[in-house]
Amino acid sequence: MAHKDQVFQKCINPQCGSEFDSHQVFFKCPACGDLLDIKYNWDSIELPKKLSDFSNRWATRSNRLDFSGVWRFRELLNFCDDEHKVSVGEGQTLLQSACGLAADLGMNPDCLFLQYEGMNPSGSFKDNGMTAAFSHAKMVGAAASACASTGNTSASMALYAHSIGVKATVFIGEGKIAFGKLSQAMDYGGHTIQVAGDFDDCMRQVQDVCTELNIYLVNSLNPFRLEGQKTIMLRIIEGLGWEVPDWIIVPGGNLGNSSAFGKAFAELKELGLIDRVPRLAVINASGANTLTELVNDKGLRWNGGDVDQQIIDSYYANLDAANYRADTIASAIEISRPVNLKKCLRALDVCNGVVLDVPDEEILDAKAQIGACGLGCEPASAATIAGLKHLLADGTVDKDARVACVLTGHLLKDPDATVNYHSKAAREFSNPPVQVDNDLQKIIALIKS
Ligand SMILES: *Cc1c(COP(=O)(O)O)cnc(C)c1O
Ligand SMILES: [Zn+2]
Repeated sequence: MAHKDQVFQKCINPQCGSEFDSHQVFFKCPACGDLLDIKYNWDSIELPKKLSDFSNRWATRSNRLDFSGVWRFRELLNFCDDEHKVSVGEGQTLLQSACGLAADLGMNPDCLFLQYEGMNPSGSFKDNGMTAAFSHAKMVGAAASACASTGNTSASMALYAHSIGVKATVFIGEGKIAFGKLSQAMDYGGHTIQVAGDFDDCMRQVQDVCTELNIYLVNSLNPFRLEGQKTIMLRIIEGLGWEVPDWIIVPGGNLGNSSAFGKAFAELKELGLIDRVPRLAVINASGANTLTELVNDKGLRWNGGDVDQQIIDSYYANLDAANYRADTIASAIEISRPVNLKKCLRALDVCNGVVLDVPDEEILDAKAQIGACGLGCEPASAATIAGLKHLLADGTVDKDARVACVLTGHLLKDPDATVNYHSKAAREFSNPPVQVDNDLQKIIALIKS
């Protein structure tokens, strides 16, 4: 029986399919433990006739919701009243044409685009999701929020928690966290707890803590968060004059972004607002390549929602037996148990997607090439271009296909990675500083040389 509310939550497992009202706070289906989706009765929502109608909002940017790059698409994620919608000006991001890089990759120069999400208030795409999660938190009157984080989630959470006056507790693993990110969580007043374990351990702990203490969880398990991340795709389409690209390429960590993108395209197609769905490439780091192994080696598929849980369970049992720890310079995607795995499989199904993994050296080379275009990013984001090189080489992506890569985080999130790369003169794209004596003639000679 269809739910009567305009908005409701629904378990993604077709065998379960339980429905819940949008005021309830879960991060997993209470009936079966699977992931939850936000669903809309579209008939009861007044939608624009065509996507380009959203352009009208540019004229009314003094309205904070029309200014927000998330909420100006609000009809497509209208799960709360306008008064509950939180915004700190997220989503003012750029789809930049990258002709030089395209030519370097042997592509048609007019065909490569970089969606630079580093321009968000906290410097990563996470703000797209956090604005939505905190709007729901405000709607349900949450008093405290928490997340496990490799860094960017905590920076974004701390920012939005402050904006609605709720507590923010961050769970980080010991060891690798980029300092740019940690500095934000601390500066924005987040309560930072460092757990003796890695991200995957933190992710397990934070779920139990949130259940026990009734804290609002803002990891990408939170289905409301993913609604906000759908708008990254709308802004790409907008940047292409309301045309759909041929390919979307995104790094894969906890797989929230890829999941949200697939949901966005499925909905837009269903609503007749787009006539075709782009293909999706999700790129793992080789040191954190669960998705790649499960899909490419073990043949795991969405399969109409009937995902083969046995394949997943035995894969994780092997990781445990080997005491495996994800390990990559791309700390934002250093995750071996992606919580949104099943939703990502669904996105791959919707978008006829592919997955692959790329080694750290290739990520760092790609990062330097992106930087040389004048748009810096952090290592995880550069997995997109590193992956694209493989997809061009094996013919999966045509050189005349229009490709949009999502640059998920700002260059300054992880300056250590950048400085280390450029300091080593031997790297293909390194640009090390040159030493010179404190002497005018020598400096001039050097510059002229
Ligand atoms: C969180 C994050 C990712 C991973 O995104 P998922 O949605 O977890 O797959 C990639 N890059 C950056 C910069 C991130 O902050
Ligand atoms: Zn269920």
